[in-house]
Amino acid sequence: MPKQYLDVFLSKEDFMLKDVLRGFVDKEIMPVRQQVDDDKEHKIVNKILQGLTDLGLQKAPFPAEFGGGSAASVVTGCMVHEELSRGDSGICTAFNVTTWAWTPALAANNKAVLDRFAPDFCGEKLRMGCFAMTEPGGSHGGGGCDIENPSLEGRKIRTKAVLDGDQWVINGQKMWASNCGVADLYCVVCTTDPEKGNEGIALIYVPKDAEGVSFGKDEKKAGMRGDKNHPMYLENVRVPKEWRAAGPGADADLFHNNCVLGRLVTAAMAVGQAQGVFETVLKYTGERIVGNKPIRQHSIAAGMLADMAIGIQTARMSCLAVAHMYDHPDIYGPPISEFMLSRASAAKVYASDMAVNVANRAMELMGAYGYVRDYDVEKYWRDCKIIQLWEGGNQLGRFDVCRGYYDCNL
Ligand SMILES: Cc1cc2nc3c(=O)[nH]c(=O)nc-3n(C[C@H](O)[C@H](O)[C@H](O)COP(=O)(O)OP(=O)(O)OC[C@H]3O[C@@H](n4cnc5c(N)ncnc54)[C@H](O)[C@@H]3O)c2cc1C
Repeated sequence: MPKQYLDVFLSKEDFMLKDVLRGFVDKEIMPVRQQVDDDKEHKIVNKILQGLTDLGLQKAPFPAEFGGGSAASVVTGCMVHEELSRGDSGICTAFNVTTWAWTPALAANNKAVLDRFAPDFCGEKLRMGCFAMTEPGGSHGGGGCDIENPSLEGRKIRTKAVLDGDQWVINGQKMWASNCGVADLYCVVCTTDPEKGNEGIALIYVPKDAEGVSFGKDEKKAGMRGDKNHPMYLENVRVPKEWRAAGPGADADLFHNNCVLGRLVTAAMAVGQAQGVFETVLKYTGERIVGNKPIRQHSIAAGMLADMAIGIQTARMSCLAVAHMYDHPDIYGPPISEFMLSRASAAKVYASDMAVNVANRAMELMGAYGYVRDYDVEKYWRDCKIIQLWEGGNQLGRFDVCRGYYDCNL
């Protein structure tokens, strides 16, 4: 196969890393991807996550003074998310959410948080982070998508942070967050006062063992079992005031930036899932004979396979193009803007709808073999649905697309 993946925005170094990751996924993840669903204690998952740590990926985004690589390219990040999700998107989530949780402190160069926690995250051992944003709804409405809906400006956040001397005192509840319950460090999205809107948003770092932090039972999900999602309870949790990422206003920018990034990298995950399905269905339909020839030699199947390839290629290009725009604010403007949220949301909505469609059509082409565990498509089918639902869901995502084009007051 020629060495070209149609990833026109990747650098030479990105291609080299892509090759390494392909090799890792084929060797370490593909043979055990079916076992991840039953790996309740995450023995298999953690071994794979440790393998990625050994490759140096965990410390890559940290500054050189901590032994990191200061890696900040979102194009590279999207490529990494795609490659890992080709194998198992739950494992990809569990690994990469750590960087997501760290992004506000890294962007703000928060010395207090870096000095206290970065050496551990830059060590040899696997460490996990969690970006705890989502909350349950209540009589006030709120929770879920309302937390990250930019037009609500953080007014629906109910996790409250109050300054008491030189400490924050935090009370509230989070749910669904990836790695929640197993992560070592949490970036908790709080408000100092919901009435203040964006000015009240506070991103505060909380270690797992802080007094007053507790967790509920792991959620039972259809798929994405490589990622754990215990609810989190914060009761009079005290942390130093310096562990707030940046400060009033600046934290809101960092929060909205993380929403843009979340949509972009999960678009790349959907591309990886679809690529994994495509490789599986291509092989199967080349081997299984129906009506005297391989399935893929029937024109109706060829048309379906072509549509899958078109969807994957288009989604990959769209995702990498927006990541390239994000990486070049000098040309395309600041990443925290309605323009960038609109483009990232378009990439995520398109890619996640495409991945679900690809998984559905692949299952149809494989018949009963697509529906059983042994042939893997069933797993991707369960794993890919959540990308349509998280990060604000594709309905809010569509509103955010509109907001980049006109004054959309929904
Ligand atoms: C496996 C998994 C991993 C996750 N990881 C994380 C994580 O790491 N961190 C974290 O904080 N959260 C995480 N989440 C939570 C996820 O981001 C939320 O589930 C998501 O934002 C949507 O919230 P909700 O499910 O409560 O839906 P709801 O808010 O109840 O939305 C329901 C429906 O209403 C639509 N909707 C929302 N707003 C509007 C509107 N204004 N107008 C019209 N329709 C609207 C939605 O698109 C959706 O269709 C995760 C969830 C899962 C299941």
